[in-house]
Amino acid sequence: MELKIYNTLSRKKETFKPINPPHVGLYVCGPTVYGDPHLGHARPAITFDLLFRLLQQLEYRVRYVRNITDVGHLENDADTGEDKIAKKARIEQLEPMEVAQYYTNRYRDAMRSLNVLPPSIEPQASGHIIEQIELIRTILDKGFAYESNGSIYFDVEKYDKQYHYGQLSGRVLEDMMAATRSLDGQDDKRNPYDFALWKKASPEHIMRWPSPWSDGFPGWHLECSAMSTKYLGERFDIHGGGMDLMFPHHECEIAQSTSALGHDSVNYWMHNNMITINGQKMGKSLGNFITLEELFSGRHKLLDKAYSPMTIRFFILQAHYRSTLDFSNEALSAAEKGYERLMKAVDTLHKIKPSSTSTIEVSKLKEEVMQAMCDDLNSPVAIAILFEWVRIINQLHDGGQSITQSDLETLTRDMHTIVSEVLGLTDETAASGREEITAGLIDMILSVRQEAKNQKDWATSDKIRDSLQQLGITVKDRKDGYDWEIK
Ligand code: ZN
Repeated sequence: MELKIYNTLSRKKETFKPINPPHVGLYVCGPTVYGDPHLGHARPAITFDLLFRLLQQLEYRVRYVRNITDVGHLENDADTGEDKIAKKARIEQLEPMEVAQYYTNRYRDAMRSLNVLPPSIEPQASGHIIEQIELIRTILDKGFAYESNGSIYFDVEKYDKQYHYGQLSGRVLEDMMAATRSLDGQDDKRNPYDFALWKKASPEHIMRWPSPWSDGFPGWHLECSAMSTKYLGERFDIHGGGMDLMFPHHECEIAQSTSALGHDSVNYWMHNNMITINGQKMGKSLGNFITLEELFSGRHKLLDKAYSPMTIRFFILQAHYRSTLDFSNEALSAAEKGYERLMKAVDTLHKIKPSSTSTIEVSKLKEEVMQAMCDDLNSPVAIAILFEWVRIINQLHDGGQSITQSDLETLTRDMHTIVSEVLGLTDETAASGREEITAGLIDMILSVRQEAKNQKDWATSDKIRDSLQQLGITVKDRKDGYDWEIK
């Protein structure tokens, strides 16, 4: 099946043609690890997880690289101010790498809850300082950067004369020139729109590395150019990220890679739209900043209750990735009901009794869903088709429609493929069902042990207790029975 994706660079839907099929190189800008993962992290992660899953379903072999920014991302995304991670480390009196590791772990845990598959490679910026210094050298050699007081800046004006700066975001340098204030003389840059490739560290700056120019650290945009080239090559298929990264981050990435390589390195640029909360932009200062943990636990003043990770995932999938998505308790509750209805239908499949004829065409389900997904990841249409099938499944169960054994097997298999493999929705209710089964089994075993004790069969009683202990289940005897807990 042909996959069409909207290419931000050409501003139109294009048929996806990989450079070296069946291999696909996919690079997505990952998190800056200085705070708890929040709603803003969930959307790009789920969008590109959907793409990753779809490409695999289409039998491509995907190398998915998603970086971890642990150095060089300064406050306000500018070339001045404190490093976000170093600032957190100073406040919390921690080693910067402790901060980065802690929030990397938190991010991975949250992604696991959302059933976001781990990427093939998850490189850290701080682990690729040598590659970044090499890239700066190349850009300097090609004449598109200059040194100023130990820092290196990218020469946007010079680059724009040969290539076009602003092609992704649709900006024009002359307009940018007119809009920016002139420098106050304090800055090392020649022009306000130039950006840092290497920054000389001030004496109090703790995250620093030696370089030919100064003890310092790389500019934020540089890591993605260096690491995408290292792991995916000088030309690769797809680069993704949030729309908020389009300018300046991705624009700078293009300028860096193009100036170093002499050509653009990305064939398709994909951007997910933003999440708003009750119609407002999300921001710490607005008091509507919700972390994923707060969502999962319901502990936030804007939340009526807790929403499970699969409710959040389903909610995000209900909107097309290029449209804005507004969070509200009403919308989340509706998503929760929809998700539960879908899972119930999957469960109902096992209760359907086959008959000698089919009144439905089962091949249509997968065909139509895959068609929607291949149309620029149209997950809302795919979900709408799934709900038509929820209705059909209920009719099959009620006897309003009939299905043969072999069609039922196909339907069950396709439903599983679409729901859990393509959309990545797991059955949370089944997980709690398994916990009930585990508890029931432990109670049953312990009642056998109680009988053995009553008959003074201490050998059997001890054997059961020790075997459970080995499985991490601690049994505490009480006068009137027993307690148990799983460690
Ligand atoms: Zn990036």
